Amino acid sequence: MLTQNLGYPRIGGQRQLKKASEQFWAGKIEATELQSVAQQIREENWQTQLNAGIDLIPCNDFSFYDQTLDISLLLGVIPERYEAVLAQTNNELEVYFAMARGYQKNGLDITAMEMTKWLDTNYHYIVPEFKANQQFRISNENIFNEYTKAKQIVGKKAKPVLLGPISYLLLGKEKEAGFERVDLIEKLVPVYVEIISRLAGLGAEWIQLDEPTLALDLSKKEKEAFEYAYRSIAAQVTGVKILVATYFEALLDNTSLAVNLPVQALHIDLVRAADQLNEVLTLIPEQLILSVGVVDGRNVWKNDYEKSLEQINKAIDKLGADRVIIAPSCSLLHSPIDLDLETAIDPEIKNWMAFAKQKLSEVNELKQITQGNNALLTTNKAAIASRRLSQKVHKQVVKERVAAITAADSQRASAFPVRQQIQRKRFNLPAFPTTTIGSFPQTDEIRQLRARFKKGDLTVEAYEKAIEQATIDAIRWQEEIDLDVLVHGEFERNDMVEYFGEQLDGFLFTKNGWVQSYGSRCVKPPVIYGDVSRPADMTVRWSTFAAAQTDRPMKGMLTGPVTILQWSFVRDDQPREVTTNQIAFAIHDEVLALEKAGIGIIQIDEAAIREGLPLRKAKRPHYLDWAVSAFRITASGVQDKTQIHTHMCYSEFNDIIEHIAAMDADVITIETSRSQMELLQAFAHFEYPNEIGPGVYDIHSPRVPTTEEMTSLLTRAADLLPAQNLWVNPDCGLKTRKWPETKAALENMVASAKQARVQI
Ligand code: GLN
Ligand code: ZN
Repeated sequence: MLTQNLGYPRIGGQRQLKKASEQFWAGKIEATELQSVAQQIREENWQTQLNAGIDLIPCNDFSFYDQTLDISLLLGVIPERYEAVLAQTNNELEVYFAMARGYQKNGLDITAMEMTKWLDTNYHYIVPEFKANQQFRISNENIFNEYTKAKQIVGKKAKPVLLGPISYLLLGKEKEAGFERVDLIEKLVPVYVEIISRLAGLGAEWIQLDEPTLALDLSKKEKEAFEYAYRSIAAQVTGVKILVATYFEALLDNTSLAVNLPVQALHIDLVRAADQLNEVLTLIPEQLILSVGVVDGRNVWKNDYEKSLEQINKAIDKLGADRVIIAPSCSLLHSPIDLDLETAIDPEIKNWMAFAKQKLSEVNELKQITQGNNALLTTNKAAIASRRLSQKVHKQVVKERVAAITAADSQRASAFPVRQQIQRKRFNLPAFPTTTIGSFPQTDEIRQLRARFKKGDLTVEAYEKAIEQATIDAIRWQEEIDLDVLVHGEFERNDMVEYFGEQLDGFLFTKNGWVQSYGSRCVKPPVIYGDVSRPADMTVRWSTFAAAQTDRPMKGMLTGPVTILQWSFVRDDQPREVTTNQIAFAIHDEVLALEKAGIGIIQIDEAAIREGLPLRKAKRPHYLDWAVSAFRITASGVQDKTQIHTHMCYSEFNDIIEHIAAMDADVITIETSRSQMELLQAFAHFEYPNEIGPGVYDIHSPRVPTTEEMTSLLTRAADLLPAQNLWVNPDCGLKTRKWPETKAALENMVASAKQARVQI
């Protein structure tokens, strides 16, 4: 029996790659220095995996920015607009980063390629752009060089990894009309054949082709493309074994297709989709080797060996040990790197956890147990039992409250039209009321304040005094430019999830648990390990302080339960829905506390509600039901006169508009400016009944929009929706912006609302 790994984090244990890349972009180090940092990380990773006893060790899983972008370069799929960069720099690495990040130098101004979430993860990839006459050819030597290097260190165990041809096409986009990207497969396959053959020639025994789209809903044509591609590859390459890797979902209706592809091995994710094992074992043909992904590549918990062994043994019974490979569920790219570096986590809880490096050992230990090493099983059982029974995890009152949820918990006292009348009387706002989404610029000064306070270099008094001053300044300024509904600016917050996680029970924070989000950007998600409760008020202090500085309405600012869940590592010992409801009650209590403290308008941000959408369509209604209900729990219980806002900063509401409406927020603010209000059409079509603030300018750019431009967007919005329901606000929070552009943009925005009041 073999063990394997599908991919390893490449940012480096100390985020060396992030630091080196950013220095390179800033022109502070040369490409050769960046290359040598990269080489060191790769070698360390191979060595780590070798030491952990892994039999098939991935290579070509490294990337300077994104592995999908790497393949685009490997295949020569480079949009024409970057040719100028090559002409100017004659350097492929410059072209590569230009594609990822845009290029503004020496008179050139070229936009970056589109970036989007990798399936249902928080990792973002660069979307390949295809043209009707797209050509493919091997355009660089990276994969071959990396294989050769890996072979020097781990020998025959080196296994090149590559996104498979169908997923590469399906995860890309057509950039012109008149063709379907899947039709490019006939041109693409020969290049894959060439790549695989060359790797085989260099000595590769195994090649891993990732085909995560095999676990998605596929059309008939797409299924046929899978058969065609792999039949062609099988017919043309010899002397190398191919492993097709699927993950994040079950194969379901694609099971028969997947197990019958003419390849040597298939990997399935048994963490996300444990139930698929039976069907796969029923349909699996003679000879196909099955890689069982039993160690969770996307979470931080220690593997429950007993559970995994049950699956492994089931596979062994049917196939024999030499047709089974033990593996993590997916690439470990989505895990933090090394739990050993965490010195501050409560040792009892740390004993329940595993990061990427520890997961490698788990894979190896599982193999050893199947060969009779029972001591390893005993130790693991003790850790699992300790977590199952710990009082740190289980809080009876929290469980009882969630278990007792009834429909009344997610019901406001009156329907929206009634609330709207009451709120209009109470706040007496003008037409097209103006507001912002919450945060104001987090200047270096503000960040330093927080850093010094955390380090202990600043007393609580001095820190709070400084934050108070920043808040007062922001309020005075909002009054001066005549905004209608004010915000306090969120200067006391580092991050919209971390701020709440730090104050809720059941959360812990790591020192070094970084995971790549995109390019050099890494995130350090909180870990939800136990039942969630709220020991004390979280935002009342700052909201009431701010409200006391002004006569205008001051919005209270909270993060919603689904967003907190989505941006954290979550418990795997209860359904996500239960954890979400626990968070929902904690936020509900905070909403009531704010209301009691006199805050009349409360915004509950649900930035990530769409992100949680399951990959398979059949599963979406159930998710949307509980996600919407969790939001409603947070917003219910307040009086009719309290106005609940929500905010979402993503596009594409079409397929979920009825669920957005079901959230029943009194006011929703959304991102729309980049689409020229196109996104509002979903709301118009649905005849969205509640109030809505379509963002009138893009906060992702320092550009200051003109008053006319924003008025014209408002005019368009008023064509689509009743003008009396429209608010005026930017697309999202302003924390990443600088003050000068923020001030100029918001002054223009207020002017534009005033224009709209007379013109529309
Ligand atoms: N209130 C948050 C802010 O303004 C919302 C951020 C977001 O939607 N991502 O920063
Ligand atoms: Zn936003």
